[in-house]
Formats: sequence, structure tokens, C-alpha cells
Amino acid sequence: MSGNPSCRYLFGPVPSRRLGLSLGVDLNPRKVCTENCVFCQVGRTTELTLERKEWVPLSAVLAEYDRWVAAGNTTDYVTLSGSGEPTMHSKFGDVLRHVRATGRFRTALLSNGSLMWMPEVRREASEADVVKVTLSAWDEESFRRIHRPAPGLTFRRLLEGEQALREAFAGSLWVEVMLLAGFNDAPDQIRAIAERVASLRPDAVHMNTSTRPVQTGVTAGRVSEALLRTVAPWFEPVAEIPVFSGRSPPPEAWPDDELVDLLARHPLSLAALAESAGAEVEAVEKRLAPLIGAGRVAVEEHDGVRMARAVSA
Ligand code: SF4
Repeated sequence: MSGNPSCRYLFGPVPSRRLGLSLGVDLNPRKVCTENCVFCQVGRTTELTLERKEWVPLSAVLAEYDRWVAAGNTTDYVTLSGSGEPTMHSKFGDVLRHVRATGRFRTALLSNGSLMWMPEVRREASEADVVKVTLSAWDEESFRRIHRPAPGLTFRRLLEGEQALREAFAGSLWVEVMLLAGFNDAPDQIRAIAERVASLRPDAVHMNTSTRPVQTGVTAGRVSEALLRTVAPWFEPVAEIPVFSGRSPPPEAWPDDELVDLLARHPLSLAALAESAGAEVEAVEKRLAPLIGAGRVAVEEHDGVRMARAVSA
């Protein structure tokens, strides 16, 4: 941790799977954002706006960072992220330049991508070594349903902005795709998202699902590990999925009805089912055999991948 209770804008460093040690810089008061996503872990957006301004004083942020460096602290990355969308801060580029000027740490910008249609935002974002943007919708309606954007923000703007960033940005562009049960987890929806993600020619795709309860009054559950594993190869490059701490029980312990129900929601590859249980594909085949015999499950090959699906009664 920063180890300094007087830190207001810095948090961490926290170990990050992809960045190593990451010192967070929060440039937004809680909770100012361009979106009010159903899966937001920070909480409900209380100020939903596209306004860009110096939401917190730049001089105070830089002074805090300088004190942190002077105290001999170290990190791998300094990452702009936190309580809202960092590019809403009109001087976020100054923070990136300041960190670069010290020459010691790399920089990352974790953005929802909503303001990349503004040339000045793209210019400033290009100062970072890594930019991660989000793309979890495939059209206007899905964008509004999942991200509940501020007035004036459309899916078209978001996508075109992210595409323009890719054209201009020579650093590493990562795309995060958040899959949520009941929102964007149907196979045709995921394929549509994958198509749009491909248009960004990302250096990496990180697929995620909600890991905590979502906002009150919103039902958007996590999707299964097996689904993430099944659809990861639909992305270019193949999507990376989170590390799951708990393994699902071994295939022989899967209850009939739960298994059929899971496959009724999504056809899943045998390999993904096996991997999520830390088992061999043969164990999955053995488990499915009686259900196939009873006409409740079918296994079909698509593009060389064996997929199991429920047979509707
Ligand atoms: S963009 Fe990020 S901070 Fe803003 S509402 Fe969505 S998840 Fe929360």
C-alpha cells in the first residue's frame, strides 16, 4: 500500500496480474463518470456527465506523487484509474507526462473509452504506455442497457473513438470485455462483440465477468468459467480470462438438472467444461454419455470444436 494515510489521490501499489505492481491514481471525485454501468463496483454514478474539467487539483495530485517517489517507493506501473473515468480530468495527460519525466515507471490508462471520440483525449491518452478500453456492447441498445451512458454518448461515438485511438496510438492497446448473464452472454451477442473488438486490432483482449453483486435493483449475474473458456477463442487475439480461485466439482459430481440447465443457457465446449473442473475431456464425455443417451444433451462439432448443448424437450 502507499503506507501514507495522507494519500488522497494515490492508492496501492497493488499487485496486478498484467501490470505487475501498479500504483493507482484517482482523478475523479466519487462518483463522477460518463457512464453508470450495471456492473460498476465503485457504486452508482451520482454525477453522470461528459464534462471534462480539473475535477481534482492537478498540483495536489502531482505533489502527492512527488512525495511518494521521494519517500523511496517503487512500482512497475503508475495507472490512471479509480472512482470514475480518468479521461474526464482535463489534465490527465499532464499526469502521464509528469510520471514519464521522472523516467522510472511505466504508465497505464484504464478507460471506459467513452471520450476517445475527442481528438484532444486521444492525443493525451497516447502519452501512456498501455491504454485499456472497454467494449462490452455491440449496438446502441445493448450499450445503453449495460453502460447507461450520459446524454450525448452513443455506442457509435464510443466505437469510432476507440477505433480512432487505435489508428493513432503506437503503445499497447488492451480491450476489456465484461460478460454479464442476461445482458450480453448469448452466442450471437458475443460474436457481435468479438467482431467489433477485432476492428480495434487490440494487442490483448481481457474477458471478465462480474465478481461482486451488482447494483441494487439490477440483476446481472456472472457467467460461468466454462462459457468464458468456450468463447475466448472467438476473439482476436484469443481473450485472456480471469484466474478462478475455486474449481468446479469433478464432472462425475455434476447434478443432471444443473448440467442440462447450464447447457440450455449456453452451448459449451467439452474442452472448456473439462478445464473448468481441472479434469480430462474423457471425464466430461463419460459424464455426458447418459444424458446424450436420454436425449437431453447433444454434442456437435463446430469449426473443429466439440460443443455440448441441451436438447429442448
Ligand atoms: S465506466 Fe467504470 S467507473 Fe464508470 S460506471 Fe462504468 S464501471 Fe463504473
